[in-house]
Amino acid sequence: MKGFKFNLSCLLDFQEPETKICGEEKIPYLEVGRSKFSFSKKVKFNLIARRISQGVTVEGKIQSQINLNCSRCLKKFPFPLHCEVREIFAEPEKKKFFLEEAETFEIINERIDLEPMIKQLFILSLPMKPLCNQNCLGLCPKCGKDLNQGNCSCEKSEIDIRWEPLKKLKEAGAKSSEQGAKSSEQGAKSIKSGFRLKI
Ligand SMILES: [Zn+2]
Ligand SMILES: [Zn+2]
Repeated sequence: MKGFKFNLSCLLDFQEPETKICGEEKIPYLEVGRSKFSFSKKVKFNLIARRISQGVTVEGKIQSQINLNCSRCLKKFPFPLHCEVREIFAEPEKKKFFLEEAETFEIINERIDLEPMIKQLFILSLPMKPLCNQNCLGLCPKCGKDLNQGNCSCEKSEIDIRWEPLKKLKEAGAKSSEQGAKSSEQGAKSIKSGFRLKI
């Protein structure tokens, strides 16, 4: 049998208590909101379907690999996907037997389609902030250079924009303490600013 659709009539007719569902199939991409991520490997699934009174449980493992973009350096990188599966499939008219919070997938004409389940589990396992490497240095916010490939010539103090608000706070504090200063110091300050202008 090809694809992600499987006929489970042998289970549903109570001829067998369980059946193995294994295979390797292609899914072109995963759609998450407005983003589309392409798979770099086929989806492998190794599952066992078991009959329960209201339907079928599907348990086992699914795995694949998807192309994500690093949230720091923006480069594309392969992200491995491994998910444990523990899901219930039920005929639409039997869905009411399940608690509302227990999500079930549908059995239609004694067949199940694994694809919506696989996509849902993979989407849930995607990282919020994908990183090509835990130590990824990201891009320089000034010149945009990939800092994983070496330093840029931007001044180091200017690179880390996270400290910018703190720096401003420090400067403001320094200014307010200067306000009480003597006129001689104010003269020194004007010399300093004059020096600055010359640059
Ligand atoms: Zn990166
Ligand atoms: Zn730079």
